[in-house]
Amino acid sequence: MDYAQLPIIFFIEVFVLIFFAILTYVFFAIWIYKDCKIRGESPLLWLLLFTFVSNFLGLIIYLIVRKEKKQVCKSCGCLISSSAKYCESCGLAIENSNDIQQFKQTSNRKYIISGIVSFCMIFICVIAIIITGLTGFLGETNVISKFEIWNTGFETISRENKSQNSWDLSLKSATEGFVKETKMDITNPDEQVLYLEATCDITKEGGNLMLWIVQGDTVKSIDVTNLGEVLEYPLNEFEKGEVFVRLQINNVKNVKSNIIIE
Ligand SMILES: [Zn+2]
Repeated sequence: MDYAQLPIIFFIEVFVLIFFAILTYVFFAIWIYKDCKIRGESPLLWLLLFTFVSNFLGLIIYLIVRKEKKQVCKSCGCLISSSAKYCESCGLAIENSNDIQQFKQTSNRKYIISGIVSFCMIFICVIAIIITGLTGFLGETNVISKFEIWNTGFETISRENKSQNSWDLSLKSATEGFVKETKMDITNPDEQVLYLEATCDITKEGGNLMLWIVQGDTVKSIDVTNLGEVLEYPLNEFEKGEVFVRLQINNVKNVKSNIIIE
């Protein structure tokens, strides 16, 4: 795949996706860190799990197994159970809310909400990338393209057998203009010949089967709809190297073809 053919929008989408992926990680990591602090969990352990095991599996495991929320003893500053009657460290009797310091319920919430919003943005980016791909922006749709063809239509029941400089194709039907292609290698342009054997049925709309041979700016096309015999096409106008061999299906069906370069 030649990345030069990819449109700028694709790179922007990927960039934005990576940006939100990082942002999601950061927000969730901050939330885990702060949440660990008020529960007496080890933030390092959980952040390592979150980072290296699986981000969302790590987050879910954390939400299931995390300890209860703690409160702080005003006398010694230790974390103690929210139901404790005495401070487990200094022995202070917890009689009323003046003896302890509660963690604010809402202080961490903004991080997990930001993380969720950012995570949703990742999904929007993925959808945008898929739409970009499906609408054909990702690739060339022109039959004379120097790059691989990106078909926007569809085909039914196609059997293909590609090997070095040999291409068998059997195709029931395809949307108009559909292009099947393969890459072949020309090693000796002055002596090599492309041989094509093809049959097809023209639909009632009337159409044709076109052979295209494309190498850079050299483009040759031949109507191969009603070949009575094997087509022999000399390759002396091409240069040594890779060449795109394409069949364009224009309102024909039951295409059977065999192409070789020898
Ligand atoms: Zn205490």
